[in-house]
Amino acid sequence: MIVIKILLGSVMLIISDNLIKIIKKQGEKGYPFEICGFLIGKIDFENDIREVYEVFQVENQNKERANDRFEISPKDFLKVEDYSSKKNLEIVGIYHTHPDHPNRPSQTDLMFAQPDMSYIILSVKNGKAEDWKSWVLNDEGKFVEEKVKII
Ligand SMILES: [Zn+2]
Repeated sequence: MIVIKILLGSVMLIISDNLIKIIKKQGEKGYPFEICGFLIGKIDFENDIREVYEVFQVENQNKERANDRFEISPKDFLKVEDYSSKKNLEIVGIYHTHPDHPNRPSQTDLMFAQPDMSYIILSVKNGKAEDWKSWVLNDEGKFVEEKVKII
């Protein structure tokens, strides 16, 4: 089933400190390569809020440029979608790391970005997780920083 979601106005991502710690750990372990995964949770359409309940790491399929590219296989996407729906949850976003690069989205990130998803980017410098930000596409198809509430 294809669900078309239209979100207008500002959005906010809610995520626990513990899940952030997990992403940071994965990012450090995967260094100097990009790691990636899904943010699974619930969407509150009325208030434009996405809340993350779980993170689900998948393999970075880009082996040639894994230091500055990530790619998720359709198979993994379906697997996580299936996993989420069984738990009555949905994919609310994608996270990945930028080894030795700022946590701003790249041109490639923009090319593959989908609307209504949160994109967490974590910068990992010299093997150590640093700052992260969450990004969303605005109505003009450009990335803007998303408000985040850490619980
Ligand atoms: Zn990126």
